[in-house]
Amino acid sequence: MAFENLSEKLSAAFKRLRSKGKLNESDVKEAMREVRLALLEADVNYKVAKDFVAKVSERAVGNEVMESLTPAQMVIKIVNEELTALMGGGETRLNSPSSPPAVVLFCGLQGSGKTTHAAKLALMLKNQGHRPLLVACDVYRPAAIQQLQVLGSQAGVPVFEQGAGDPVKISREAVKHAKDYGNDFVLIDTAGRLQIDEALMDELRRIKEAVPPTDILLVVDAMTGQEAVNVAKSFHELLDITGVVLTKLDGDARGGAALSVRAVTGRPIKFAGIGEKLSDLEVFHPDRMASRILGMGDVLTLIEDAQKNLDQKAAQKAAEKMMQNRMDLNDLLDQIRQMKKMGPIQDVLNKMPGMGQQLKDVQIDDRQIDRTEAILLSMTPQEREKPELMNPSRKRRIAAGSGMKVEDVNRLLKQFEQTRKLMKQFKKKGMRRRFAGMGL
Ligand code: GDP
Repeated sequence: MAFENLSEKLSAAFKRLRSKGKLNESDVKEAMREVRLALLEADVNYKVAKDFVAKVSERAVGNEVMESLTPAQMVIKIVNEELTALMGGGETRLNSPSSPPAVVLFCGLQGSGKTTHAAKLALMLKNQGHRPLLVACDVYRPAAIQQLQVLGSQAGVPVFEQGAGDPVKISREAVKHAKDYGNDFVLIDTAGRLQIDEALMDELRRIKEAVPPTDILLVVDAMTGQEAVNVAKSFHELLDITGVVLTKLDGDARGGAALSVRAVTGRPIKFAGIGEKLSDLEVFHPDRMASRILGMGDVLTLIEDAQKNLDQKAAQKAAEKMMQNRMDLNDLLDQIRQMKKMGPIQDVLNKMPGMGQQLKDVQIDDRQIDRTEAILLSMTPQEREKPELMNPSRKRRIAAGSGMKVEDVNRLLKQFEQTRKLMKQFKKKGMRRRFAGMGL
C-alpha cells in the first residue's frame, strides 16, 4: 500500500517525541527535520515539504496547547490537521451542471488509468442511481475503444462510439445523444500520449470548447511520484482542470503525488483509484488519508465500507443468534459472504487503527476463506443447520465436492465446535460482566 514508508518514518519521528515528558523548541525542531526528510523521501515536492514544516513548527512552538493532550500528542494533532489541509481539507464533489447532463472529461498521459477510471466512475454513479453514458474519444487506438466497450459492459453502462472519427464531433454528438436518451452524466475518455504534446492539448482544448465539460478530471498515476506533479501542473496550465483522479494508490507509490498535487495545482483530488477492479474507486477524503498516513487507521472508511456492504438485518439476526448460542454453519456461511463483500481481509485490517504497522509483514491468505466457503457450500442446508448429522460418508462427499480433504472438513467442524463452546462459556459467565471488563 502507498505511504507505508512515509508512515513508518513519521511514526519514528513521533515516537521519539512521545518518550519525552515535556517538549522544548529544539525537540520540535528535531522532529520537524525528520518530518521534512520523510516527506522528501516520499517524493513530496521540495517547496511543499518546506512550507508544510514551517506551518507545523509555527503552530507547535506557539502557544497552542490543549490541556487534555500531551505536547507530543499535540504535535501529531497539528501534523494531522496540516496534512489534511495540504490535501484540500474536505472531500470535493463533482460539479453540477445548470441543466443535465453533467459532462466529465477525462484526460491524462497514456497508461495513467483514464479508460479504467472513466468506467469505475460510471459504475459508481450507476450504483448511486444515475444514468451515465461512456464516450470513446481515444480514437487513435482501436484497442482503446474496445477496452472501453468491455469495461462498459462489465459496469452495465452504455458506451457511445463512432470508431475512428473526429473526437470533437463525437463528444458533441454524445452529449446530444445523452440529452435525447436521458443520461445525466457523460463521461468522455480521451486519447493519451506518453508525454504532453501540443497536438493532444489542442484536441482536448477543442473538445472542451465544443462540449463544454462540467468537470475536467486529470488522471494521474501515483506511482510516477514527482513526475505526476509536473504532469498535473502542465495539464492544469493548459486546460484549467477542475480536479484530479489519483490512480494506483494500491501499489507501492511513495505517496508524494497525493500530498503535492493540490498544493501545486490548487485543484483537489476528487477520486482515488485503489486497484484494477471496477469497484476499486474511492471518493478522496483528505482527512482520512491523513490519518492513514499517520498510521491512525481509517476507521471512518472502514465503517463506511461496512455499512455499504453489510446487510444490517442479517447482521442483527446473526448477533441475536450468537447471543443465544444458536449459531449454525449457515450463519457462518452468511458471515463469510458478508466479509468477502468488504474486500480482501488485508485491506480491511489495514484500515483499522494501529493494525497497519503491526500487520505489515503478515500475509493474510484470502484463499483460506475461499476454502472454508467451498467446504460449506458442498454441505446441504440441513448439514449446515445440524453439523451433528455429519458422518464419515457425508464428510467424504463434502471433501470431494469442494476439492478438499476429509481432514480439512474435520478441521472446520472442530473449529466451529470450539467457537460454539466458547460462546457457551461466554454466555454462562454473563455477557454484561465480560463487556464491562472490556471497557464497554
Ligand atoms: P489509459 O491509457 O490512461 O486509458 O490507462 P488504462 O485505463 O488502460 O490503465 C492502464 C493500466 O493500469 C491497466 O492495466 C489498468 O488495469 C491499470 N490500472 C488502472 N488503474 C489502476 C489502479 O488504481 N490500480 C492498479 N493496480 N492498476 C490500475
